[in-house]
Amino acid sequence: MKAVQLMDWKGTLELRDIPDPTPGAGQVLLKMTAAGLCHSDVAVMNGLGKDLGMQLPMTLGHECVGTVIDAGEGARNLVRMGENVMVYGPWGCGRCEMCAEGYENYCYNATRLNITPPGLGHDGGAAEYMLVDRGRYCIPIGDLDPVTAAPLTDAGLTPYHALQHSRAKLTANSVAVVFGAGGLGHVAIQLIKHLTPATVIALDTSAAALELARQVGADFVFNSDQDAVKAVKDITKGQGADVVFDFVGVQPSVDLGAQMCKVRGDWNIVGIGGGVAKVGFGVVPYECQVFSPYWGTRRDLYEVVALAQRGYIKIHTTPWSLEDGVEAYQNLITGKVLGRAVLVPGMPSKAAREAEQKANKAAAAQAKAGK
Ligand code: NAD
Ligand code: ZN
Repeated sequence: MKAVQLMDWKGTLELRDIPDPTPGAGQVLLKMTAAGLCHSDVAVMNGLGKDLGMQLPMTLGHECVGTVIDAGEGARNLVRMGENVMVYGPWGCGRCEMCAEGYENYCYNATRLNITPPGLGHDGGAAEYMLVDRGRYCIPIGDLDPVTAAPLTDAGLTPYHALQHSRAKLTANSVAVVFGAGGLGHVAIQLIKHLTPATVIALDTSAAALELARQVGADFVFNSDQDAVKAVKDITKGQGADVVFDFVGVQPSVDLGAQMCKVRGDWNIVGIGGGVAKVGFGVVPYECQVFSPYWGTRRDLYEVVALAQRGYIKIHTTPWSLEDGVEAYQNLITGKVLGRAVLVPGMPSKAAREAEQKANKAAAAQAKAGK
């Protein structure tokens, strides 16, 4: 099968032919219909994967949707052949106290047992087929379009989870600041607007992303710079934001976020851009709570799917063929993606589409000449 793989820690990506996977005990085999590209893939390429001990080559893709086509012993009764499912990514042991509480994303045993998410340790979904380790990770998507459903598994799930612990602080008088209106951020804005009555201020360094933020419901949008601190203070009558969500996590956004939080506010640093927050008495506002959430729970994902099915989450996507997957990743690396880029196995490549267009034109010209 074809798969987009990370080859080395210099960030070399290749579309490769590798053997088709077969499901072992407990595993489910999916024929892929969509795989979202996340900025965390870029962090993995830039060395995070090496630090975490990921083995290469590795098929990328941790936002996965596919059709169940086979299952191993012990999983056959859990899934239906032909079912369209998304893959819950943060796999856990299922046995420890964190997993028992539903927080497989914080499984105590995952590292020790080498249980890693697909595309972030194990082979992921940027391929024609993928293996899912357990039937419970296959969440039915019903009638959702695979291309817009795939990003729900991370770009939807992660902001939804982050919002849960801060939801009570987002009342009608509250203000939420969202740094980064990219894949995660443009969903976060919609979730905050649909699930709370709070005002949303979106900050980004890209004019196109700010325009997208406005389209998906942000009340105010500003360039992410020092002037934005004054803008947030003006809107909040000098108090600062009740909740800051940072979906960038680089030092500049963290430094700005520190100046925008309110006394007793929440500061969610979700982006993994390596920015470090200084925390201490008198350094952050009194009783400001700082969170570093990772992904979400399976229960959260079921809720995200239900929200999408009711039309509350619209993901801005650009589909790419698997053959053009490396180019799609290059676009993500160079900051050219608006919303989410999604690989769609089975979609004709750019070259095939151009060849077809050319052939159609030639046929039309011939038909005209023959008349
Ligand atoms: P993305 O590339 O789709 O979007 C990032 C956005 O941030 C872009 O619109 C970009 O213009 C903007 N940006 C860049 N620098 C900025 C700055 N200084 N201030 C404001 N905006 C800025 O990325 P994504 O896929 O949405 O991921 C966002 C971050 O979240 C990444 O760091 C990613 O690795 C991380 N992430 C974390 C988790 C988690 O569980 N904690 C899960 C998924 C992704
Ligand atoms: Zn991700």
